[in-house]
Amino acid sequence: MNDSPLALLGGEPAITVPGPHFEWPPIAEQDREAVAGQLEAAVSIADRSGVVADLEDALASYLGVRHVVTTCTGTAALHSMYAAAGIGPGDEVIVPALTFHATATPLFHLGAHPVLADVDDRGQLDLDAAARRITARTKAVVAVHLWGLPEDMDALVSFADEHGLMLMEDGSHAHGATWNGQRTGSFGAAAAFSLNGPKPLSAGEGGFVATDDSELYYRVLLHGQYNKRCRREIPATHPLARFSVTGMGLKLRIHPLAAALANAQLPRLDGYLAGRQAIAARMCAAFDDVPGVRVPHVLVSALPSWYALPLRYEPTELGGLPLQRFLDALHAEGATEVDRPGSTCPLHTHPLFQAPGGLLPGYADRQGPAAGNFPAAEHVHATTFKLPVWHGQEDVPLADAYAAAIAKVASHAKDML
Ligand SMILES: *Cc1c(COP(=O)(O)O)cnc(C)c1O
Repeated sequence: MNDSPLALLGGEPAITVPGPHFEWPPIAEQDREAVAGQLEAAVSIADRSGVVADLEDALASYLGVRHVVTTCTGTAALHSMYAAAGIGPGDEVIVPALTFHATATPLFHLGAHPVLADVDDRGQLDLDAAARRITARTKAVVAVHLWGLPEDMDALVSFADEHGLMLMEDGSHAHGATWNGQRTGSFGAAAAFSLNGPKPLSAGEGGFVATDDSELYYRVLLHGQYNKRCRREIPATHPLARFSVTGMGLKLRIHPLAAALANAQLPRLDGYLAGRQAIAARMCAAFDDVPGVRVPHVLVSALPSWYALPLRYEPTELGGLPLQRFLDALHAEGATEVDRPGSTCPLHTHPLFQAPGGLLPGYADRQGPAAGNFPAAEHVHATTFKLPVWHGQEDVPLADAYAAAIAKVASHAKDML
């Protein structure tokens, strides 16, 4: 327990090292060499060669899937995945109500309908709620491993089987996470991942689709890769081969410099994740007896990638102190990286989901999901705050300082009431 008064009330801050305290991805000499080398090798790659092939091969073997197709963003990967799965006008896809919007928004561009289902108290898809949203038009259900904590994939796989739905994954928080030793992104018909800046594996900007299904793979190529890739990878005898030159008309290729960065990062990913697991365990242990703060419940089969450490706030244990005031006090202590999830929020609160017709003419008649239908998503979002999860031995003092700052603010909560 720290006896000095809260910095918010004029005391000494717990953390005096100036921020930012967390930067991602870590840029190493290998990354500089890989990107500089790529500048000389090729800055545009139209087929599956060079660094694009290297990255796709490495990702496929890392995940244990047959095919990987890289894309310019995770949003594009999700779009290609849904298009390749044959999801089209009027089709419904069950999406957890609490996620980043791009898990669902590409469906609008296929004429399909994201059908939101509430989450459980851990923030993961509530399968009873999901079952209630199934109709004759439901084609698929999407697993999102929020903050890198794997969903219960045993339950999701049986749920999808039982209801005859395709299982898809948005693995954008969960590169390298495992469920029963199997990597997230290898459970369903296909998975889409982001390689955006802060994601566990980063290309700066990028994404990819992973699948075992060759037919789906050809269609992913036809959605966003066109011409050379399609001509070389789709067998000439295949009925879809005649569409190779145009594909479906979109171009969603990854930039070779981005591919070079992700390809250089990938061999270090498991080391980073092991470091994160150790620091996450250390921080969770430190919060054990801190009132007002609950650590996430990690299922025994799950090994998270710890995209962030999501903590739950229990104001009743701190005299009703509002979460925002608690965070203001933490920021005053110098714990500047602590924040609330911003754009990862209940999707039904976005105007695009409430009134898609305002931007997308095909949805003019579409009513948004009713407010109040997703009480758990709203509650989990309103009571979550998160920390970055560092990975290095040298980061341990900072992680400990953050834990100490949180304990200090919690123990002084009454001073702010
Ligand atoms: C980041 C993210 C995306 C979108 O990826 P971009 O590369 O930013 O387009 C999709 N889903 C989730 C869960 C994400 O976190």
